[in-house]
Amino acid sequence: MTTLVDEIKAMIAERGPITVERYMQLALGHPDFGYYMNRDPFGASGDFTTSPEISQMFGELIGLWAAEVWSSMGAPKPVRLVELGPGRGTLMSDALRAARIVPEFREALDVWLVETSPTLAATQHDLLIDSGAAICWAQSFREVPQGPAIVVGNEFLDALPVRQFVRVSGQWRERMVRLNGDGELTFDVARTPESYIIAHAPNGEVLEVSPSGHRFMFELGARLVKQGGAALLIDYGHAVTGFRDTLQALRAHRHVDPLAAPGDCDLTAHVDFAAMARSASAAGAAVYGPIDQSDFLRAIGIDLRTKALADRASPERAEEFKRARARLVGKGQGEMGALFKAMAVADRKLRPPPGFQPAAAKSA
Ligand code: SAH
Repeated sequence: MTTLVDEIKAMIAERGPITVERYMQLALGHPDFGYYMNRDPFGASGDFTTSPEISQMFGELIGLWAAEVWSSMGAPKPVRLVELGPGRGTLMSDALRAARIVPEFREALDVWLVETSPTLAATQHDLLIDSGAAICWAQSFREVPQGPAIVVGNEFLDALPVRQFVRVSGQWRERMVRLNGDGELTFDVARTPESYIIAHAPNGEVLEVSPSGHRFMFELGARLVKQGGAALLIDYGHAVTGFRDTLQALRAHRHVDPLAAPGDCDLTAHVDFAAMARSASAAGAAVYGPIDQSDFLRAIGIDLRTKALADRASPERAEEFKRARARLVGKGQGEMGALFKAMAVADRKLRPPPGFQPAAAKSA
């Protein structure tokens, strides 16, 4: 049986080394063998766990965030609620349930799920079929029909492929994947330097750029400016652009060699939020944050929500809710509060989205 690694090797043997960007695209999105294409990677038995899978509170709070943004937009009807890379559909399911307390918002919703994986789209369909909302699927954000929109994406940007450039002998060269003498995949650098990159750095430093991330952020910003709305992007990454090699592969919750098993492990890069913000701003949108996930979730009420669930709704599960809260907002080892960041992009005419209020207002 041919596997993705065989296919990539054959491709390189025939046509020469490929970029890290192309490698990532194939590993994640190859129509037959791409990582997301034919599996459910989430949870304890999968390769990694995400915030909506840790606790219902995450999706619930984001549902209420969306309802508040909608009212600040002047309560347009209909409004598109768009989720990018919805995984199992858990975040949307929890968000729609929580949004029942704002019936006019629920009735205005036209839900769009942007998903490239047919397997995950089927899982989302099964979970959301009884949600009572009208739900459509799209392969890309561009396909979502025009009109005011509220967009959310958790761990979407980290799945977009990056190009890597390595500083070698005072020049930037693109990192490539080639075959070594034994016919195995190995990293190398391109022969021709990228003379247009003017950044200076010590030899060995790595610069990452996500062309598809930039394209997406520009498109998102332009759309929100023109048609109204706001977006919330949550991911792991850094607030300031720098030199880093963040390409990482995860299998069964452990880091593995990114070249070892393309298509069989999750392959991601940390999000350069500053770079993503520049593209959205260039399109004319307002950008808020990034701020630590911890600060964002606390500002939109995770402490009160934990207390309400633990004390009143499900006291028998009190410990579970408290543990989940700690995992989402804690800033220690293995916790997500500082590693993950939240950034909002919005139409300039809107007031800052919930959770992103200016510091002065927050401390008042
Ligand atoms: N948001 C979910 C899943 C995150 S994993 C959660 O937090 O649990 C990344 C998700 O993005 C998966 O659903 C994957 O299939 C999807 N995805 C990856 N690349 C994509 C692309 N280019 N366009 C749309 N969806 C994509």
